[in-house]
This record gives sequence, C-alpha cells and structure tokens, in this order.
Amino acid sequence: MNLQRLSPRPPTPRLPASSARAEAGKQEAVSPRDTLINVAMGSGLALGTANLAAQVVSAGSLPAAAATGALALGCGVAGWVAADLASGFFHHWVDNYPRPEDRVLGDLAYSFQVHHHKVTDLSEPPLGTNLAQTGQLTALPMVLGALVNPPAAMLAGLIGFTGAAYLLQGSHRWSHENNPPPLVRKLEALGVIQSREDHMAHHRPPYKGNYCIVNGMWNPILEKTHFWRGWEKLIYRCTGAEPKCWRDPAVKDFSLGSIDEATMNRRVRENSKDFLKLDKRDFEQMQQVFLARHPEQAK
Ligand SMILES: [Zn+2]
Ligand SMILES: [Zn+2]
Repeated sequence: MNLQRLSPRPPTPRLPASSARAEAGKQEAVSPRDTLINVAMGSGLALGTANLAAQVVSAGSLPAAAATGALALGCGVAGWVAADLASGFFHHWVDNYPRPEDRVLGDLAYSFQVHHHKVTDLSEPPLGTNLAQTGQLTALPMVLGALVNPPAAMLAGLIGFTGAAYLLQGSHRWSHENNPPPLVRKLEALGVIQSREDHMAHHRPPYKGNYCIVNGMWNPILEKTHFWRGWEKLIYRCTGAEPKCWRDPAVKDFSLGSIDEATMNRRVRENSKDFLKLDKRDFEQMQQVFLARHPEQAK
C-alpha cells in the first residue's frame, strides 16, 4: 500500500489525477449510458425540488408555508443522514461477503475492492462516471418520486436520500484528491460530505472500519461501539459466512469475544504485513475471475 497517498493533504496544492489527465489530453468521455443516467438523475432532482418548492409556497398561509418548509428541511436532512448509514451497510457488505464467481455481485465487489489496491482509481475517469455508479440505482426512484409528487415530507426525504447516495462516489473521489475544488473543501469542513481524514481510516488494513462514505457522520459511533464486529458475529452465527476482514484472525477473535480491544489492536498491527500479502493474492484471484468475464477490460 502506498502510505504516501493516504497521508493528510500536503500543504502544496497539486493537480488531481483527473486534471492532470485532462491537461495531457487523455481524459476519457462519460459513456452514453452514464450520461443518460446523470441526465435522468439531474432531471429528477430538479423536478422534485421544483415540486417541493411549489408545495411549500402553496401551503395556504405564511405560518403553514413555514411549517411545511421546516418539515421538508428536517426530512431532507434525515434522508441524507439515513443515506450515510445505508452506505456503511452497503460498503461493509461489498468489501466482505460477495464471492468473485457470482456474476453481478462479484463484479460489484470487484469494482469496490479494486479501490483498496489502487486508491487513485476514482480520479481517473470523469466525475460523471463516478456519479453514475450509484446514479444507476437512484435515478429511477428519484424520477418516479418527482413525477408522483408525494407530500412534502416524503418528497424531501427522497431528495435527501437519493441526492446523497448519488453524490457518494463523488464525495469518495474528492476525499482521495490532494487538491479538490474549493466548494468541495467547504462541504467537507461543514460535514456535508466526507472528509479525507475520516475516510483514510478505512484504508488501513484489514479494512475493518469507517465504512460510511456519504459524510461519515455515523463512523465515530459505529467504531466506538464496535458495531461492525457485532454485525459480523450475527451474520456468522446465522449463516456461517465469515467477512474478509476476519482473514486477520485478531478481528475474528475480537468479534467472537475471545480477546479484548487492546489485544486486537496490537495483533492487527503485528499482522498487517501478512494480511496485505494475503489480500493481494486474494485480489489477484478475484481479478482473474473478473477479467475472464470481461476480457474487454484487460489492458
Ligand atoms: Zn472499502
Ligand atoms: Zn477510498
């Protein structure tokens, strides 16, 4: 692992990889499929927001409009907060459980886990390609929600949740860039999107924490309570499935209650090199399975 890439942002601004590629004339275009997804999602968000504003304005009286607006704002924020938690469950699952042989889920897991081995991968394609990764899941519900135009609280919650989920890989990309746009730095500072510092904790082997990647607001409480270890134990007891992070036996032992936190942390540090070797070998096998299914991706 290149620890230099994972250190705090250096004081000297450097071009993000995407800009460097653009300067070199190598920036690839957003595919027609991804463009369609982004246009659909953008249209859904615009129509939904316009409908929401119309509901607030037509509430009847000024107090009623203020109450509707406040309720909508609260539900929008709740949607954003819920999306961060949902991103944690999703990320924890794709990092730990899918088998490479599973066609759709294996591809999804590969697209996430390749990032542990090449942290600059998100900055190589255009931003529109990053956004379309989750946009393919959020565009349809957002467009349908905007067309149906439910009550303000529901519509605002939908905008908050799908908007945050759509932005997820953009936020993730920026958290790895040395010189993101100034607006991004402001949003990071305000806690609207994830900060670099919060996300870098996820990239420490054995990739066992800080799975929430919208703004990471759930990460401190989930880490403090060892939520993911308990969740892994529950899944193990119910299905027998072991997460990938248990390939560091200290994590498994802690999850199953046979060692304390201090012992786990000490053993994780000691096991780090062995874990990375194992993870590299495992990833190469995963890559072989993926490229056998997608020979066009082999370069
Ligand atoms: Zn991950
Ligand atoms: Zn990352």
